[in-house]
Amino acid sequence: MTAVVVVGAGQAGLQAADALRAGGYGGELVVVGEEPDPPYQRPPLSKDYLMAETDPLPLRGPAFFEGITYAGGARVLAVDRRRREVELDDGRRIGYSALVLATGAVNRTLPGADLAGVHGLRTLADARALRAELADARSVVVAGAGFIGLEFAAAARARGLAVTVLEAAERPLARAVSPVMSDFLAGAHRSAGVELRLGEGVSALEGSGGRVRAVVGTSGAVLPADVVLVGVGVRPRTELAEAAGLAVDDGVVVDEYLRTADPAVYAIGDCARFPCHHAGVPARLESVQNAADQGRHVAKVLLGTPEPYRELPWFWSHQGPVRLQIAGLAQAADTALVSGDVASGRFSVLRFREERLVAVESVNRPADHLAARRLLAAGGALSPADAAAPSFSLKEFEA
Ligand code: FAD
Repeated sequence: MTAVVVVGAGQAGLQAADALRAGGYGGELVVVGEEPDPPYQRPPLSKDYLMAETDPLPLRGPAFFEGITYAGGARVLAVDRRRREVELDDGRRIGYSALVLATGAVNRTLPGADLAGVHGLRTLADARALRAELADARSVVVAGAGFIGLEFAAAARARGLAVTVLEAAERPLARAVSPVMSDFLAGAHRSAGVELRLGEGVSALEGSGGRVRAVVGTSGAVLPADVVLVGVGVRPRTELAEAAGLAVDDGVVVDEYLRTADPAVYAIGDCARFPCHHAGVPARLESVQNAADQGRHVAKVLLGTPEPYRELPWFWSHQGPVRLQIAGLAQAADTALVSGDVASGRFSVLRFREERLVAVESVNRPADHLAARRLLAAGGALSPADAAAPSFSLKEFEA
């Protein structure tokens, strides 16, 4: 290997570079990241960062950057697979023997989102702009009750703002969690004072003088807004792969070694669609765990110990006092069994598919979450009958 080039200085790209060095790779290692800020952690941007005048948390300390060539504030414009080169927007061309695409995702948007006061939340620049506007705002409207929308709603509410959330589906986080968890979250946000309007999408963003004034819901309701957060999901950044003739299907398509059809090109993190061992189908996941584990894994493959990628997916989301943790991946049709007392705000929901445990959603029960991760990684040998026993405890069962 002569040079590894990583495109994207986010969670996945930096982890890959770190693991390559830690694994003994001594060749040239270039990381190209288009954002002007030094690489930072995204999760706090929709949580603590919005609450106080805190600094962003760096992804790596200065020592890491001494061991690599870091091209910050530079964008890769194109990949020339025949010559094995990438072309940067500052005119540089960098040769590679292996190329890792870790380009992440960008927010989807809504018509009218160019009005001042309408924000997405993906980058530090987004979070800075949003935090500055919250200081003078009184009312915010959130489009979409996904993770980012709900985390933002909790933070804005805690800052004392009037918060309305519009969600086109009949329950929040409908694709990610069980109905019982959706109901719990809806109740938690409503008791914190959030107006949660389910079954209501956005029909228009209305403004005057170039600034947003209101959101019109699909019911016709006009909801005044000083600030609007659009949290309607993301689109993977696949444009480089696509232009280079690689397969793309809502993500850069890779095999179980995270490799594209070109053996010199890999894709990891939010931008990659991979054969997910735990889902049993190809998946594209958006989580720190997925980005970091795939970063570590691609390094192993490049260092010559290729094994299929099989890490268990897990995820967390902090929404005010609610600490939600999810281990495994469930589908809408999977059954749900509650362990603990939902009303107490400390419980887990066990999801089963044909009598097999596939995921566990926990609220304020970190020990359950850790036990669930170990249990699921080991094959999930827990039946619904075991879990329904009155004295059942996930932690004790797994120990
Ligand atoms: P990214 O972090 O998006 O990094 C990709 C980088 O590549 C970007 O900096 C981008 O600018 C750069 N790039 C793209 N194209 C080019 C190019 N052509 N040239 C140069 N650079 C390029 N996950 C959790 O598990 N728990 C949470 O609580 C949680 N909270 C979150 C809160 C927010 C506000 C956000 C936005 C995400 C959150 N996530 C959370 C998701 C998690 O942060 C992402 O899944 C993770 O950051 C993905 O890492 P990545 O490296 O794949 O992509």
